[in-house]
Amino acid sequence: MTPAQRLRQVANLLNGSTVLGLLLARSARCGIRTGPRGLLIATGYRPRLPVAGAFAVGNVVLFRGDAGQVRGNPVLLGHEERHCTQYAWCLGLPFLPLYFLAAGWSFLRTGSAGSGNIFERMAGLEAGGYVDSRGSRRTGNRNVTRNGHRFHRSDPSNKRSEA
Ligand SMILES: [Zn+2]
Repeated sequence: MTPAQRLRQVANLLNGSTVLGLLLARSARCGIRTGPRGLLIATGYRPRLPVAGAFAVGNVVLFRGDAGQVRGNPVLLGHEERHCTQYAWCLGLPFLPLYFLAAGWSFLRTGSAGSGNIFERMAGLEAGGYVDSRGSRRTGNRNVTRNGHRFHRSDPSNKRSEA
């Protein structure tokens, strides 16, 4: 384990997020084992939410698949590991409301909770199974903004003509 990985492990232990991840994994009757780089791997997650093949809570990465599927997908584990680091940067549980705000903001702008979500972008969109729809939608939004400006510019003159 590198010093940074050790620091992340200790930070997420002290800030309570890893404890929450373990409680969630235990309540969902997941198998839990130690993983690489200070991570804890929980497998066999069955509850319907969140709608994701894998997600991280503190240093715990919860997977719907079994241990074999986890070993076969190091890219997804790497993506979730970056979320573990984000928990440490956010001092633990504040990650969750910040993440949901970012997801909502992304959804409003791109129609996807992940594509414009800073946390997902920094964790690697493709590695997390997201499609980057931001470019095409952003162009669309620019057009909407331009149309909006045109509308606002013509609006006062319309009022003037009405008055
Ligand atoms: Zn992600």
